[in-house]
Amino acid sequence: MAALGQTPEQFLERLAGPSWLVIPGRDRGRSRVFVTLLHGNEPSGVRALHAWLRAGVRPAVDLVAFVGSVQTALTLPQFSHRNLPGHRDLNRCFRSPFVGAEGRLAHEVLERLRALHPEALIDLHNTSGSSPPYGITTCADAPQAALTSLFAQHLILTRMRLGAIMEALEDECPTVTIECGGVSNAHSDAVALEGLTEYAAADPLFAKDQARPLTLLRDPIRVELRKGAQVAYASGAVPEMDLTLAADLDERCFAVLPPGEVLGWLGPVGTDALDARDAQGRERTGELFAARDGRLLAARPLQLLMVTTDPRIARGDCLFYVVLPEPEALDAENARDGGTQSALEVGGGA
Ligand SMILES: [Zn+2]
Repeated sequence: MAALGQTPEQFLERLAGPSWLVIPGRDRGRSRVFVTLLHGNEPSGVRALHAWLRAGVRPAVDLVAFVGSVQTALTLPQFSHRNLPGHRDLNRCFRSPFVGAEGRLAHEVLERLRALHPEALIDLHNTSGSSPPYGITTCADAPQAALTSLFAQHLILTRMRLGAIMEALEDECPTVTIECGGVSNAHSDAVALEGLTEYAAADPLFAKDQARPLTLLRDPIRVELRKGAQVAYASGAVPEMDLTLAADLDERCFAVLPPGEVLGWLGPVGTDALDARDAQGRERTGELFAARDGRLLAARPLQLLMVTTDPRIARGDCLFYVVLPEPEALDAENARDGGTQSALEVGGGA
């Protein structure tokens, strides 16, 4: 117990670097994986792991935890760097070429995970802005829904490939990324701890008798800032900026925003400051957004996800994702295709 430290920060100091922990389960023949802190500024997962370890409860099967960006998280001010300056984003390194320190680490982790044959993998993050919890998956079957329902009521199905750990393991075992809420949201740490506790204790992991409703959202469109453009967050246009986004944009995550909703203010290049791409690489800016009197508006009903309000993350990763809401709002053609959103019943499916 002393080896764990009193606080998550002491725990990280003792780990000192990327760490692979095996907590023996009642059944040593099976394992489940819990990955966290791939981003150094997302503390809920490691706080949950520390609290769970300190509770000293034996898991149902071996729990294998990988804690990624330990030094990044410890760099002062603690939990403030997603990745260190001059280093790659670790959760974009889980695909070839595995170059640099982060690439080599990602490669080693994948080799270990593939040798392990785990029952499931959960990679736990915080969103950088405010958000309710949700899961992300590349394959929305019953196991992924069951894993997500330990933490959240929304599951996002994406075909986008960014080099995240989830993508690399999709053929190995049921895998989800969990965003347990924003760093500043009051409940994020509790969501992470409750979900991890249940994940470690459940046996079997995918029980059929505990159906929980989950909303599935398909095919988010990634909206980036154009290279070299400048973004600010405020309650009105900031001079010299190519784009000012509403400072409270993250508060509108998952809400269906109507056409005409003001999202922000545009600079001299208008909506050219934005680059919206779907998983097929198609440019969708003109379909999603409109410009009027210098303002950036929703051109159609939209739901925003993964909204950051940190200009560094906005420039280095993306601004937010967009999904097109419920089939009823779309034309019959889309509705026949299954639309963009549906409900999944956890535990009842195949
Ligand atoms: Zn993250």
